Amino acid sequence: MPTVGVLAIQGDFQEHRQMLEKLGVEVSEIRLPHQLDDIDGLIIPGGESTTIAQLIDIYHFRDVLKEKIKGGLPVWGTCAGMIIISNRLTDHRPEPLHLMDIEVSRNAFGRQVDSFEADIQFDEIDGPPFHCVFIRAPGVNKTGAGVKVLAHLDDGRPIAVRQGNMLATSFHPELTDDTRIHGLFVKIIQGSA
Ligand code: GLN
Repeated sequence: MPTVGVLAIQGDFQEHRQMLEKLGVEVSEIRLPHQLDDIDGLIIPGGESTTIAQLIDIYHFRDVLKEKIKGGLPVWGTCAGMIIISNRLTDHRPEPLHLMDIEVSRNAFGRQVDSFEADIQFDEIDGPPFHCVFIRAPGVNKTGAGVKVLAHLDDGRPIAVRQGNMLATSFHPELTDDTRIHGLFVKIIQGSA
């Protein structure tokens, strides 16, 4: 079984840890850059993307994260994590890592009703639709040629995207009991998805 790192500097890393433990994988909470050497994949959790980006810089994660992910380390960004790995933001802050070829807007689903839940079908995931929890979620405006949309809202807006070793979801699978997307990420790490 692989060892999956969860960036544990801000946000809901604990919930991801619990989901991964249900799947029986080794989990490593990543608080310093050298800890990235001992993992097979990395989750960047939801939280507050400007704070996560600030801490990425304060703890000197930026260059090593970019180098490792460009070198093939599987990464999955959920919500704020999607913002962090995006190539381009329509917002002035934070400075993303410019990795995944998507253009993202923060808090894309409105100010008043900015949290909602929806059951959405994924092609890659067997069984019933996935119950997706959106909390002040980012929206994907554009996807580059190498980016595959795994799931979208009824109006066509993507909510789960993949580009090779990089996966991003605008919702929070770690806040449900459903481990199927964590399972998909483990398969990506193992090279079987
Ligand atoms: N709106 C938050 C941000 O822009 C992300 C919210 C989340 O991760 N649930 O950082």
